[in-house]
Amino acid sequence: MQRRLKPLLDIQELDIKMIRLMRVKKQRQRELKQIESLRTELKEQLKLKEEEIKEIEPQVNGLEEKIQTLTDKYKKLESQQASVKKVEEFNALIQEMTTVEREKIALETQTSNILDRKSAEEEILEKIKENLAVSETNSLELEKDIRSSIDQINTEGQKLKAEKDQIVVNADPEILKIYERLLRNKRDRVIVSIENRSCSGCHIALTLQHENLVRKGESIAFCEHCSRIHYWEESKVVEGATAQPRRRRRGTVKA
Ligand SMILES: [Zn+2]
Repeated sequence: MQRRLKPLLDIQELDIKMIRLMRVKKQRQRELKQIESLRTELKEQLKLKEEEIKEIEPQVNGLEEKIQTLTDKYKKLESQQASVKKVEEFNALIQEMTTVEREKIALETQTSNILDRKSAEEEILEKIKENLAVSETNSLELEKDIRSSIDQINTEGQKLKAEKDQIVVNADPEILKIYERLLRNKRDRVIVSIENRSCSGCHIALTLQHENLVRKGESIAFCEHCSRIHYWEESKVVEGATAQPRRRRRGTVKA
């Protein structure tokens, strides 16, 4: 069994490297998305603000037209003053003029309020434009770095895959299948040694009987707590021929 597990241990180390690499890649992709969504958000804000400001224009024009009409009406009423003979008619005329004047003042106040709002909105628009420009300049460099980091990860991933393709042919197909299923579940080492009579995957103590079973290595032994496959570390030295010291992961890409 130990001999059958040996190629799997090498495959496992490559798979673990790959899993870590893919985690880093996902993180990088998330960062990229964050940058993009920030920019999209600012652009969206910019568009909305521009539309808001654009909508103010016809409102102002409409009000100014109304004010003009009222001004004309007032002038017309004013010119009628001279031709009015009766006091009642004169009073009525004055009252109408007052009403027109009041309406006009109300519309002018409304217009002035809208124009104030417009200039406030235009200030906000400028701020958004500034933010967008700053964000674009800053993020460009960062995005470039992230993209090149992703390229590097992809290259490294291809190397790992090629390495795995070479040794996967040595693996026992039956164990490989079990191993792959476990790996998919745990995303962690699934063929682990027994250390101090404990599973080095879940660190739960094992029985002597189980340890002996693994030591004998007649069949695949699963950890009854975490379902990982157990192997006996000593046999590595005994079977030695293809064994190589476990290499530490050299992080060419930093998390
Ligand atoms: Zn376990």
